[in-house]
Amino acid sequence: MGVYAVTGAASGMGRQASDKLRAAGHTVIGVDLHDAEVVADLSNPDGRAAAASQALARCGGRLDGAILAAGLGPKPGPDMARTIFEVNFRGVVDLLDAWRPALAAAERAKVVVIGSNSSTTIPAVPRRTVSALLAGKTVRAVRTVKLLGPAAPSMAYGASKIAVTRWARRQAVTPEWAGAGIRLNVLAPGAIQTPLLDELLAIPAQAKAVQAFPVPVGGFGDPAMLADWMLFMLSEAAEFLCGSVIFVDGGTDAYFRSDDWPRSLGVSGVPRYLMRLRSFRGASHDG
Ligand code: NAD
Repeated sequence: MGVYAVTGAASGMGRQASDKLRAAGHTVIGVDLHDAEVVADLSNPDGRAAAASQALARCGGRLDGAILAAGLGPKPGPDMARTIFEVNFRGVVDLLDAWRPALAAAERAKVVVIGSNSSTTIPAVPRRTVSALLAGKTVRAVRTVKLLGPAAPSMAYGASKIAVTRWARRQAVTPEWAGAGIRLNVLAPGAIQTPLLDELLAIPAQAKAVQAFPVPVGGFGDPAMLADWMLFMLSEAAEFLCGSVIFVDGGTDAYFRSDDWPRSLGVSGVPRYLMRLRSFRGASHDG
């Protein structure tokens, strides 16, 4: 039986996944603002450092896997963009950086980052916000969305999910992750019936936007089903899954973006492709 760290374990999808892991006989170290083994606030650096070290102390330096599900939706409010960036992006990156050695110690660890189909279905998310997040410049990222008025929360949310997905894909294939036997992948849900969604539905403008969003299969997703996908992505079946983004969104991404990917690399991308090909031979990727 394994030991798993789960952020956002007190509610919604993180809670469902924790319950299912425990029911299967595993040990779960939940991290959340309340009702968790590790009570910590991931919206500031000290809280993240405390969460990371307390979880490591509890697992004895060896983790079989992790689910990064703590997150905030695109709610309006003062300082909301900063909080979204701190929790949805830094709350994943800082914890996984700290936990990586413990995941490597397990030799075949699996990690699931909860992204969102917002990463591909919210239009016009500023590229500079995503770049600022990936460069570790949270204050600059906040500045880039501040002037967007009522669109700021959605743009901040979309940017946080694009950045976290891109970060995970960049790391997943490196010797430090793939080469250390750690499988790092992203689950991208659509609208799922959790307290996060309930909160958005209680705000009239947000409710209108959520309800108008096309979901080809209809309705909202069930958090218990999403938890089943997470458990599958933590299982041995995921041994050859690396840097993938799995959309479980009722078809919204396919509806908006059917022809955008998969897509062959254009001619302008060939030099970068050849460079990556050459550098792979030089690196150790023997996971
Ligand atoms: P939820 O609100 O039910 O659960 C989120 C959990 O994160 C809560 O327990 C909350 O306390 C915790 N959390 C929030 N801020 C925190 C902080 N500062 N420190 C520590 N913990 C904190 O939401 P959910 O829908 O289960 O969301 C889980 C993940 O799924 C989030 O990353 C969310 O962005 C993502 N997501 C949700 C939906 C949806 O429609 N529900 C869709 C796509 C992606």
